[in-house]
Amino acid sequence: MAPIKNICCIGAGYVGGPTCAVIAYKCHDIKVTICDINAQRIEAWMSDKLPIYEPGLDEVVFSRRGKNLFFSTDVDKHIQEADLIFVSVNTPTKKKGLGAGMAADLAYVEAATRRIAQVSTSSKIVVEKSTVPCRTAESMRAILEANCTANVKFDILSNPEFLAEGTAISDLFNPDRVLIGSLQTESGKIAQQTLADVYANWIPRENIITTNLWSSELSKLAANALLAQRISSINALSAVCEATGADVDEVAYACGRDTRIGSKFLKASVGFGGSCFQKDILNLVYLSSQLNLPEVAEYWKQVYTMNEYQKNRFTRNIISTLFNTITNKKIAVLGFAFKKDTGDTRESAAITLIKSFMEENARVAIYDPKVDAEQIYMDLTEPGVVDNRKQVEKCIEICGSAYEAAKDADALVVVTEWDEFRQLDYNLIYKDMHKPAFVFDGRLMLDAPKLRDIGFKVHVIGKNPLEGRA
Ligand code: NAD
Repeated sequence: MAPIKNICCIGAGYVGGPTCAVIAYKCHDIKVTICDINAQRIEAWMSDKLPIYEPGLDEVVFSRRGKNLFFSTDVDKHIQEADLIFVSVNTPTKKKGLGAGMAADLAYVEAATRRIAQVSTSSKIVVEKSTVPCRTAESMRAILEANCTANVKFDILSNPEFLAEGTAISDLFNPDRVLIGSLQTESGKIAQQTLADVYANWIPRENIITTNLWSSELSKLAANALLAQRISSINALSAVCEATGADVDEVAYACGRDTRIGSKFLKASVGFGGSCFQKDILNLVYLSSQLNLPEVAEYWKQVYTMNEYQKNRFTRNIISTLFNTITNKKIAVLGFAFKKDTGDTRESAAITLIKSFMEENARVAIYDPKVDAEQIYMDLTEPGVVDNRKQVEKCIEICGSAYEAAKDADALVVVTEWDEFRQLDYNLIYKDMHKPAFVFDGRLMLDAPKLRDIGFKVHVIGKNPLEGRA
């Protein structure tokens, strides 16, 4: 097969945008066009303020845009021109119907696949980049074959994306591995090698793994399930630590030094967020139950349940510590994004926490360095509930700094681990807060002994609140 010259990416989101921008950055001979039906998003990709925040992304996009990197809403035209198409559309959890709250909604993948079949006038490699349930490629193949014009052939590959938001560009420059699954036919294997050749422009061949289609699809769900499982495991232990006087950081360190366990992803916290972990775990739970494997489904479901428990446990601890009522008290929430170095708020723990605070009639002041006020209002408003937006606006205040949020607050709650929260002048913050001034560290990132010396009452997940006083 001839080398790839023209790539179209359908979906200009957190995955399609950075992934294909990096391909353009690393492969100047390939024309890359990233398409989306969302005109506002495409406009932003073509402007000075990109629609997503990722360290290093601006440089990558600005250096290749208009040269071999393009953005467009004309999906059909770029499908037609491409010899390889990435399908990188959203696959959210289904909201209603069969499998609601569990299964992946594949409507966007299907719509994109149908479009490819309908408008293609030449043969193409179609690559599943979106995270999908195992055997989705089979449905895509059926749709493509039933709807294509004569003499047009499609090879389907699975090439799941393992980037993490916040470190997307360095992950894409230097991935632990790239995974490409194909049908084990002659033409499938040739297509697999053709995509491998694209990545080989900057990734060592030994880091490009080739498997069958179904292993590749399942590996993505499995990787996210295993990562989320580590977080839920250490979070479960954090509850035991609080009850016994053990320190979860010390336990994680001691366990992580065992090379069989390893130290990464063993940080206790208020719970995982983001668009992927919860969705993909639930997707695996649904897949397992559909395959009539109820014990397997129950096993993975517990990872999700533990995450919900951790968020609720943190909230309950805040309310009980604040003398069992937060009515009319001001709670300063530091961080709204689901993790540092991203503006993405999908499934952020902050949303669950703040909604609980609002239900208890607290006043909530929020500061996040990268999340827009409008996004915060949208995330906290229940869609379709009359006047809900106005009620939200009454309860919350969006602040331009941590200092503004903390002024006259009863409690400071750290939800996102932004580095700048370590550098704040806590003497100043203490002076401006109501007394007793409480700090709840949901990320185990602040210097608790120092804060206690200032006068704060400090609660850290996985640590006894009386730590340092015994
Ligand atoms: P996203 O919502 O940010 O982007 C998806 C984009 O696809 C949207 O802009 C949407 O308008 C567009 N789209 C939907 N249907 C379309 C169509 N028919 N034609 C053109 N555009 C269309 O989602 P995302 O975070 O980029 O995730 C995409 C996929 O990648 C998901 O399956 C996700 O699970 C997976 N994934 C995400 C991450 C991550 O960190 N966000 C990491 C790995 C994998």
